[in-house]
Amino acid sequence: MPKKPAVSAKHAEASVRISARGADRLQSRHPWVYRSDISEEKDVPPGAVVRVLDSRGKFLGSALYSSSSQIAIRMISHGSVPDLPALVAERIRAAIAYRKENDLVRNTDAYRIVFSEADFLPGLIVDRYNDVLSLQILTQAVDTAPVREAIVQTLRDELQPAGIVERVDARIRELEQLPPRQSGVIWREKSSSVINMNGVRFHYEGFEGQKTGAFLDQRENYAAAAQYAHGEALDAFCYQGGFALHLALNSAGKCSSVTGVDSSRPALEMAEKNAALNVTLNATLNANLNGRELEWIEANAFDLLRDYSAANRRYDTIVLDPPAFAKSKRDLDKALGGYKELNLRAMKMLRPGGILVTCSCSFHVSPADFLKVVAGAAQDAHKSLRVIESRGASKDHPILLNVPETSYLQCLILSVSN
Ligand code: SAH
Repeated sequence: MPKKPAVSAKHAEASVRISARGADRLQSRHPWVYRSDISEEKDVPPGAVVRVLDSRGKFLGSALYSSSSQIAIRMISHGSVPDLPALVAERIRAAIAYRKENDLVRNTDAYRIVFSEADFLPGLIVDRYNDVLSLQILTQAVDTAPVREAIVQTLRDELQPAGIVERVDARIRELEQLPPRQSGVIWREKSSSVINMNGVRFHYEGFEGQKTGAFLDQRENYAAAAQYAHGEALDAFCYQGGFALHLALNSAGKCSSVTGVDSSRPALEMAEKNAALNVTLNATLNANLNGRELEWIEANAFDLLRDYSAANRRYDTIVLDPPAFAKSKRDLDKALGGYKELNLRAMKMLRPGGILVTCSCSFHVSPADFLKVVAGAAQDAHKSLRVIESRGASKDHPILLNVPETSYLQCLILSVSN
């Protein structure tokens, strides 16, 4: 006689009923339903997998539930999910395969392996920094012990890292009402490494710096910028030297000098160390770099651009990659003002034929808004600009069509004429 399957707790899933508006949203292929669109929920435990029903009780799929976020559920499957850890493992393997099969990652050992919703794994980010993996857990469901175990085991099996570190965003844990936790190494010991992006080396320190350590989403834009950069170059928000070092080392000698500016001293110290690392590692790079001036200046970029422009300082290449000015919709006008001011000053300082690389990483600033602001700056600067390239994040940060939140980074490469 066939054995009766055990009715495990996993099968006794809770369900939530959602409004017509919530169902429309799912229908549009967006995975989020806000709390205001949940019409019925009973005793759903934090972080549970829930069955999602429409107003008539029709089953729409399975979602991860959060008891505290305004985003009450994030869809994870159109079917039933009897075993979440197994599904998470499968999705991680699929994310790795997606990048491999489409040959999305080139000339680097540092890239994003799992990008949350864009890899159908809401609440999980995994970045690879050579032999160290860094993960971030952003939701209640992904923070449960069995899911954590599945993540670490799958990453170990698939990628054989020398270390896995967890970067904790304390604010997110608080918002998700998760117990406080320290960042730390969660597998083996290694938490620092040296990474390679387009042939340029960078120190990686697992618990330092912004994001999970580096701006991997700009990696392809570094290479693109270096292709057009020339003459005297300024990288106004240089962080640890991502653009600046590419301009100095990868522009085939076209940049005669590179100045990196940032308001953060630790970021500049790392930039300096990164420059030194490339010099010791590679004799050709060394020769490339030695002939050129490479300087790092600690300053407020707004003040520096104003002072330099008042002093008639001119450049041939300027990179603007400021922090996200619009953290929420409310900041939009102020953010647009900030982008306008920066771009206007930069355009005025660029010689004819000069290159402006200008970025926005504010999700709330749409591509149309950003283009409009840059065009407005051109008008005020009395310059004509041609768009050489309109770019986004590196391909290992997929954009999920119909989920605008996955498309946040814009990078325009422009040629300036009088
Ligand atoms: N282009 C960098 C990332 C820049 S992130 C890269 O690809 O790696 C934004 C940087 O702007 C941060 O390093 C931050 O320290 C710096 N920053 C923020 N406000 C600033 C200001 N007013 N002036 C100069 N730098 C600023």
